[in-house]
Amino acid sequence: FANALKIKPEDFLVQLGELGFEEVTLDSLMAGETAALVAQEYGYEPTVDTGGSQDLKPRPPPEDPSVLPLRPPVVTIMGHVDHGKTTILDYLRQSSVAAQEHGGITQHIGAFSVKLSSGKPITFLDTPGHAAFLTMRQRGANVTDIVVLVVAADDSVKPQTLEALRHARAAKVPIIVAINKIDKDGARIDAVKHDLAKAGLEIEDFGGDVQVVCVSGKTGQGMDDLEENILTLSEILDHRAEPDGAAEGWILESSLKVTGKVATVLVKRGTLRPGDYIAAGLTWAKIRQLRNEAGVDIAEAPPGTPVEILGWKDLPAAGDQVIQSPDEDKAKTAVSYREGLREREKDAAEYEVITEARKVLQEKRAREKATSEGGTGNTGGTGVQEVLLEEENGMKMVNFVVKGDVHGSVEAVCAAIQEIGSHEVRPRVLRSATGPISEFDVEHAATSKSVLVNFATTTPGHVQRMAEEQGVRILDHTIIYHLVDDVKANLSEYLTPDI
Ligand code: GDP
Repeated sequence: FANALKIKPEDFLVQLGELGFEEVTLDSLMAGETAALVAQEYGYEPTVDTGGSQDLKPRPPPEDPSVLPLRPPVVTIMGHVDHGKTTILDYLRQSSVAAQEHGGITQHIGAFSVKLSSGKPITFLDTPGHAAFLTMRQRGANVTDIVVLVVAADDSVKPQTLEALRHARAAKVPIIVAINKIDKDGARIDAVKHDLAKAGLEIEDFGGDVQVVCVSGKTGQGMDDLEENILTLSEILDHRAEPDGAAEGWILESSLKVTGKVATVLVKRGTLRPGDYIAAGLTWAKIRQLRNEAGVDIAEAPPGTPVEILGWKDLPAAGDQVIQSPDEDKAKTAVSYREGLREREKDAAEYEVITEARKVLQEKRAREKATSEGGTGNTGGTGVQEVLLEEENGMKMVNFVVKGDVHGSVEAVCAAIQEIGSHEVRPRVLRSATGPISEFDVEHAATSKSVLVNFATTTPGHVQRMAEEQGVRILDHTIIYHLVDDVKANLSEYLTPDI
């Protein structure tokens, strides 16, 4: 690389040190993206060959979707807590195809399919709530065709109703309102309709096109209407997909069961069958078995079908895109390409963080030097960390830098931290890496106003002292739920007190 940049290797090592690289030797390896950044420092305009052709990608969209067969709509149920999402899903699940055929026994696999008397199926995602919808969306997976917004007739529109409305709108997913609990004495259907209209929802009673169905998840009243309404809307939206060609889909959830590594896939295009090869995220599978929500083997999963798949090398993650591969080799190549890509992205991000932190640090030192020469007596290192907050869309953010013993635990810790938070204050993992907390981590936390998290490693004494001097907080833990409690306690310090 030094030769390519026309610098003496010995000089290059020194300059890399100045750029923030630690312990670089003549036989160190540097990732392509990082090398490109370094080359830019030397005035070159490098291009990086990322080898993208090795990856498996979705095929282009169909030229004329209107000639394709119809597929079942995929529906997510959202709404305020206790308004009856779970009850409605339970009612529907009992009427699921698999349940009818297999004595009413269904397991939770992340989705199930319901067939109406007309024989037309609807697929329901069976994780109620907003978190699941958001997680999928954040990962780019727009799996939901229709949102059913549940509003309790005796409680009307509440904060999470509005939140669900916002999410559905942001995702441009059409809504059907289900006014639930109409069997209750306190049911005030008209009041709910007015509140919905006030919230800006153009419901059909007031001349809009959003359908409103009155139901009771408890007695089953109106549930047929709800299903009919979903189908009618789906027909208007014209949900179609090709049943042939390389299959594509999304991972809804994955888990380790007694039968092995299992993941539920929602097929979007094409048809999956046992023996097929698929890749998802950083893993792949030769499909050993396809199972429906009753745990029964099925021969194929066409578009719109949720299906449990066995045969994974590793567990894929919810929200990973699934793409069929023509053979084992292609699946493996794609996964190793993606692993390489992820490493390179991490290196590049690390490099950026290092340069940024160094810049801030140099400026800080320069300022300190100027003040001490000016004799104002500012010694820096007050021992108290400044406010950790930044406003993002009116939301308070608390930054975290996560270190841990192994890659797996770092990932788990980051995931756990990211799940915490309220509508007022949320955590943000700025950077994560394996290994004990280093001086650089402390500097980075100090400059970026982050809380350091250490999971199951030992922080060297001098680093601990440095953190104390700079007023950087370190949360030290070996058990994830203790850590989560501690993070929660940290976040709650920034909540506006209830009056
Ligand atoms: P979720 O938090 O939205 O999933 O709400 P749940 O489904 O857990 O329902 C909350 C409570 O309302 C439970 O006690 C249910 O039994 C009750 N509930 C749900 N739907 C109905 C309904 O249609 N009628 C009546 N009377 N109670 C209901």
